[in-house]
Amino acid sequence: MRESWSVLQWLSRLVAHDTTSSKSNLLLIEEIETYLQSWGFTCQKSFDDDKRKANLLATIGDPERPGMLFSGHTDVVPVTGQSWASDPFQLSIREGKAYGRGTCDMKGFLAVLLKMVPDWVRLADQQTTHLAFSYDEEIGCVGARRLVPLISNLPALPKGCIVGEPTSMQLILGHKGKTSYQVDVRGCECHSSMPAHGVNAVEIAAELIHTLSLQAKLQRTREGDNRFDPPYTTIHTGTVHGGTALNIVPGACAFEFEMRHLPSEDPTSLLMHLDDQSNRILDERAPGFDQAKVRFNMRSSYPGLLTHENQPFVSQIKKALGTPDQSFVSFGTEAGLYSQAGIPTVVLGPGSISQAHKPDEFVALDQLIKCETVMNKLLNGG
Ligand SMILES: [Zn+2]
Repeated sequence: MRESWSVLQWLSRLVAHDTTSSKSNLLLIEEIETYLQSWGFTCQKSFDDDKRKANLLATIGDPERPGMLFSGHTDVVPVTGQSWASDPFQLSIREGKAYGRGTCDMKGFLAVLLKMVPDWVRLADQQTTHLAFSYDEEIGCVGARRLVPLISNLPALPKGCIVGEPTSMQLILGHKGKTSYQVDVRGCECHSSMPAHGVNAVEIAAELIHTLSLQAKLQRTREGDNRFDPPYTTIHTGTVHGGTALNIVPGACAFEFEMRHLPSEDPTSLLMHLDDQSNRILDERAPGFDQAKVRFNMRSSYPGLLTHENQPFVSQIKKALGTPDQSFVSFGTEAGLYSQAGIPTVVLGPGSISQAHKPDEFVALDQLIKCETVMNKLLNGG
């Protein structure tokens, strides 16, 4: 007799692994892999450069037949500096809520998936199911980039994908994409009484930041897409570090900016504009100073999501949910990457995003029950 556990038993096991993004997730992946293999799933893994973290893709049923893909990340955000009423890595059930780091974002969904395993095995002759577990989602959907190729190489591309991020079990068809950069500006130091003998890196950075701010203003005047809040692409500079003393012309300045773009927009045009501007500024401000440079280092990037509501897969989910309601969210997910790979993808999962990343993170037990109910209905054809 193969083992199986309830959703809360699984959640307790998953929460007990401290899979903060900076740490290894290998023990958790191993535990899931061993379990899935015991039920006959075929498992594939891909790793980060140091082999400290892994993605897992598991399949049951004929791989030549397009199946359903259920996906979630295994990493969680840190608890550093947060005050918790109970141990964040030990599941605690109080007043209809399951507390623990990752309960909401998004080990609750993973627990429901693992609970469903015997059901998918029972129906494996009729339907194919893929489960995907990623690493490093919380630091910019990094791990999923090495998971998508495993999925793209399946004999048949999945016919639909659910990414179970916390949406309070509301069907989400779209979100913005995001690209973030660190910009390193190198100038040339000199005494501030003779500024023409140097190149002021802080002032070059300031001109570039101003360019970004003008672009942000331009976006606000565009027609936009009212399904998103705010309905336009946003651009903002979040950090600036530069200079050492007032009487030294600063030789270095670094700043970070991000762009959260509408799925229909391509962030590369802004980056090309910024690159042109940096060349113009260097020509103006630093002629003859070969060491003066501007370098753009991408920190993270994921595409937006915009799934058509007339996909058969979307209708099937609406039937299982018992409502035609659909909406859009402002936070990003791995769903954009799956969608880019040609898989119709939605975001739908238990728990509220307002509970995620906070001290005393929890998922309401009725949300877990609702998720299980919807998954069961999907299993039986919607
Ligand atoms: Zn998440």
